[in-house]
Amino acid sequence: MEKEWKDKLLNRFLHYAKTYTESKPDVEEIPSTPQQWDLANYLKKELEEIGLEDVSIDDHAYVMGYLPSNQEGTLPTIGFISHFDTSPDFTGKDVKPQIHENYDGGDIVLNAEKDIVLSVKDSPELASFKGETVITTDGTTLLGADDKAGIAEIVTAVEYLKAHPEIPRARIAVGFTPDEEVGKGAHLFDVEKFGAEWAYTMDGSSVGELEYENFNAAGAKITFKGKMVHPGYAKGKMVNAMHIAREFAEALPKDEVPEKTDGRQGFFHQHDISGGVDEVVMQMIIRDHDDEKFEKRKNFLLELAQSMNKTFGEERVIVEINDQYFNMYKQIKDKMHIVDLAKQAMESLDIKPDIKPIRGGTDGAQLSYKGLPCPNIFAGGQNFHSRYEYVTLESMAKATQVIVKIAELATNKK
Ligand SMILES: [Zn+2]
Repeated sequence: MEKEWKDKLLNRFLHYAKTYTESKPDVEEIPSTPQQWDLANYLKKELEEIGLEDVSIDDHAYVMGYLPSNQEGTLPTIGFISHFDTSPDFTGKDVKPQIHENYDGGDIVLNAEKDIVLSVKDSPELASFKGETVITTDGTTLLGADDKAGIAEIVTAVEYLKAHPEIPRARIAVGFTPDEEVGKGAHLFDVEKFGAEWAYTMDGSSVGELEYENFNAAGAKITFKGKMVHPGYAKGKMVNAMHIAREFAEALPKDEVPEKTDGRQGFFHQHDISGGVDEVVMQMIIRDHDDEKFEKRKNFLLELAQSMNKTFGEERVIVEINDQYFNMYKQIKDKMHIVDLAKQAMESLDIKPDIKPIRGGTDGAQLSYKGLPCPNIFAGGQNFHSRYEYVTLESMAKATQVIVKIAELATNKK
């Protein structure tokens, strides 16, 4: 990518990163915080200035715009989507990006005064960016490359395509969302209005990442009912809910927990427990890529409760399960040309596609179930949601090129 375009990409990213857009959990409204409007409004203006068509911002700060195709005939509309909010896990206020040109491959001092260092020991992949332009924080905030890198890449790619009419391209739809980090980025996304046949979220990490499988996810609330009696006179009368809860927990498969699983292995994860003799409430999440195993896990909890209730002769264990999201693979598997197109774009740019199942969810999963198949592509950022977050300009440039290439290769698809 030419220097002129890399500069545009960098300046764009720096501006977005410095704009405060932290989202907030447990807020009913979307966007969850007023500051997200600042970047949303700015992006709308920017898309208009670049010359995109039908640029809009709705009542919930979702921004959309279109770059028409420059080809004859009917071609699919391809969407690219990123989120402009940053994670509430770490402060995103007053971000002061630091630029380390021609990075020497060693540790990077983020903040000498506070002795905050981005070290190769803790972030081994850092050394692989030797010679590149590394953008870090000053150690006091996150960077917001998740997912402002994605936005900078998409905006720069459509500007580049507009400036290069000699590159054939399909129609491109651009969508920017609020509140992804609080699980609501896809909630009010108007798939019909967006009008794309399929889309990609630019929200992955390392160069080459391409993801189209994610967890099936459910939450379980398990209530254990006890019976409090004066301990001195409790024989044959008291039922201690804590003992029942412990028995239940011990019946769960010991190795199927987050800390002992990876790849496509699913798990049960107890993340909260509270209560006393009278009542204990245990909160759990259930995760599995495989549909059948996912159902089995849910049934396991229900059957365990049933069998324990038989033993106790009463409704002592109550299991409530709520599905949270589903593996997008089910929505993609009959449309693998969507994945192949991204793969082909990467390969033609000498980028090795790195395909792996996501051990979490994505906005793309929700969008896929709303009728917009939506795999996830790398945006380049590392160490998300922390003061050690960083991204290199070269990684962002590669993601930008992938977008341009997908637009071009899509003209071969009918
Ligand atoms: Zn993200």
